[in-house]
Amino acid sequence: MLRTIFLVAAALMAVILGAAWWLLIADSKAPETAPGLFAVEDWRALMPEDASTLPTEIRVLEVGRDKAPGFAARAGGFGTDWNTTYNSIQIVWPDRTLVIDGAVDADTAIGMKQSEADWAFDEPAYETLLAAMLAADQVLITHEHLDHVMAVARHPDPAALAPRLVLNAPQIAALAVFARGTLDPAIANLAPRLDGTVQLVAPGVVIVPAPGHTPGSQLVFIRTRDGRETLLIGDVAWSLDAVEMLTTRPVLTQYMIFDPNEDRAAVKAQLRALHDLMATNPDLIVIPAHDGNLIVGLIADGHLTEGFRN
Ligand SMILES: [Zn+2]
Ligand SMILES: [Zn+2]
Repeated sequence: MLRTIFLVAAALMAVILGAAWWLLIADSKAPETAPGLFAVEDWRALMPEDASTLPTEIRVLEVGRDKAPGFAARAGGFGTDWNTTYNSIQIVWPDRTLVIDGAVDADTAIGMKQSEADWAFDEPAYETLLAAMLAADQVLITHEHLDHVMAVARHPDPAALAPRLVLNAPQIAALAVFARGTLDPAIANLAPRLDGTVQLVAPGVVIVPAPGHTPGSQLVFIRTRDGRETLLIGDVAWSLDAVEMLTTRPVLTQYMIFDPNEDRAAVKAQLRALHDLMATNPDLIVIPAHDGNLIVGLIADGHLTEGFRN
C-alpha cells in the first residue's frame, strides 16, 4: 500500500515538474541561424543622402510603469525583475514630429496591473500624448496590442487623428479587437498606408515588417542627424536580455496573455536575427518597447530625451 502511494506521488510530482518545465522554460531558444531575415543594408539604402534632412532627436514619454518577474519576459530568468514601461516615442525634426505607439490609457493600465507597489499611471503624460499625436505629421504603431494603441483607438478627436495614422492592414483589422470597445468610424475605416514591405516613411525613418508577435508587428529603424542608428523592436522582445541571451518569453505567456497566440517560431527567428545584427553592428541601439531599465539608461546617456516636445 505504502509503495503504491509512493509511486502515485512520484508520478504526480513528475507530471507537475514536467508541466512547469514546459510552461516556464521549454521551446524558448532561438534557432542557430536566421539568414537574411533582417537585412540592415536594405534599410540603410533607403536613407536620404542629405544628412540635414534627418531627425535631430528621439524622445520618449512614459505613460505608465509596472514591475513583473524577469522570467515573464525571458524564459528561465528567475530571480530578476522586469521593470515594465508603457510609453510612446516621438521622432523630432526642426519643423515636424512623428509619433510611434499609443501606449495605454488609465483603464487599460489598471486592468494590466502586476505590482501594487510599482504600478503607476501618469494622466498628464497621457494627455500630452493625445495632443502630440494631433501635432505630429504621422502616427504609427509598432503593433496592434492593447498597450500600444489606446491613444489611437480611444483618441478623443478621431476625425483629426485619422489623416495622420499610418498603419498596415493587419494593424487596422485588429484595432477593434485590442481596443476593447467600439471604434469611431474614422478609425475603423482607415485605409492602410503601409504595404507590408520595407518602407521609408519619413527622412531617416524606415519601417521593417516583422510579423510574429502579432501579424501587424514591425520594427522602426531610425537614423538621426548625428549619424546614430536606433531600432525600435516593439514587443519582439520585452527586455533586451532576451535578445542578448537568445531566449524568448515562456510558453506560459501564450496561455495567460496572448489571444490570439504569437507565431512563436517567427519570434524566435527574429531574436536570432536581432542578436546577430547587434553583434555585427555594435553601435546600433536596439530598444524593446517595455524595457524600463534600458530606457532609463538611454535617457541618462543622452541617446533618448525624456518627455515629448510640444
Ligand atoms: Zn505586444
Ligand atoms: Zn506591449
